Amino acid sequence: MTAGEFAPDVVELIWDRDQGRCVDCGVQLRRERRAEAFDGWSVQHREARGTGGGKRGRRPWLVLASNGGLMCGTGTTGCHGDTETKRRGRAYALGFAIKTGIRRPSEIPMRHAVRGWVLLDDEGGWEPVEAPRGQEMAA
Ligand SMILES: [Zn+2]
Repeated sequence: MTAGEFAPDVVELIWDRDQGRCVDCGVQLRRERRAEAFDGWSVQHREARGTGGGKRGRRPWLVLASNGGLMCGTGTTGCHGDTETKRRGRAYALGFAIKTGIRRPSEIPMRHAVRGWVLLDDEGGWEPVEAPRGQEMAA
């Protein structure tokens, strides 16, 4: 496991919280298909891991459940790939991506395909919140 990756127990929390579905498009994923293209899945980092992840890093929340969203595809395919590239602006608007150093992921709402607008906590929980201003129609 390299620095900044989600530990297996955190991946379990995220999988359960997201009900095995992509947080963006909502497609049902298959548990055994992690990190494979097409119908595979991966855990997207809302705040990019860059450097400093891990228990002893300066940004320990990078590897907590609040910073991860289950997505179809890999870092280069599916919703995960789009979030990292051509739909980056949309990803910021919907909370799938977070700019480093402003607020913690647990403080920034995300539009969850299963649960609507939520705040994600560090333990695999969530609470519903109002859509951010200007994003009401995206819910
Ligand atoms: Zn998707």
